[in-house]
Amino acid sequence: MTQGEVLYSGKAKTIFLSEKPDELIVSFRDDITAFDGAKKDQLEGKGASNAGVSAFLFGILEEAGIPTHFIRMEDPITMRVRKLNMIPLEVIVRNRAAGSIVRNYPFTEGQYFDPPVIVTDYKDDTRHDPMINDDIIVALGLLTHEEIAAVKASALKVNLVLKAFFDGIGLDLVDFKIEYGRYGNTILLGDEISMDSMRLWEKGTMKSMDKDVYRFEKGDVMEAYRAVSARITGRKGL
Ligand code: C5P
Repeated sequence: MTQGEVLYSGKAKTIFLSEKPDELIVSFRDDITAFDGAKKDQLEGKGASNAGVSAFLFGILEEAGIPTHFIRMEDPITMRVRKLNMIPLEVIVRNRAAGSIVRNYPFTEGQYFDPPVIVTDYKDDTRHDPMINDDIIVALGLLTHEEIAAVKASALKVNLVLKAFFDGIGLDLVDFKIEYGRYGNTILLGDEISMDSMRLWEKGTMKSMDKDVYRFEKGDVMEAYRAVSARITGRKGL
């Protein structure tokens, strides 16, 4: 593996150029942040936990016919991916009410959404990732209406696959955030899917097994992350 110059350094991952112009190297760091970076820490093993889970989930999505940027893991914290031109949108799918949707609207925590609710946020920390609607997405030139429909259909398919998978390992997929990018003429699923970007509740208990443990100091974050990654990948902790 050739790790070139840093292309971009985010809050929890560093993106490097690779020896190939259309591939990048993503390094999952041990940094964890919340509230637009206002709360931050380093947790040993967090990068490997999230990288392993992300790789595994991209794998099951690919098997289900959903194209992603994932190519392979180079080592436990390093992922090789296709280079996408990222679309600055956070596509959030919600099966149950939690987090911002409960703060902003009169929903009850844990209430089920059937069909699932899709929310799109404009990805910009300086603006606190404001919610964005279809017309604004089109007016900003981010996607056409047809592309928005395709992205939402893809996000719902991701939800079906992940929800069934988590159900099988005793976890309730409450909500998750995904990001897409352009790859030539196609739009692929990019970024990561990990405990940082999903809400997972222990089935039957509503016990958080995700970044909410860190956000709201509900217990030992790494204990939760390790437990989820062990359950997901079938391995004994990462
Ligand atoms: O905060 P909110 O309730 O809108 O988050 C919905 C889902 O999207 C949660 O699973 C959260 O972890 C994820 N999310 C994220 N990155 C953000 C905002 C939300 O991964 N910037």
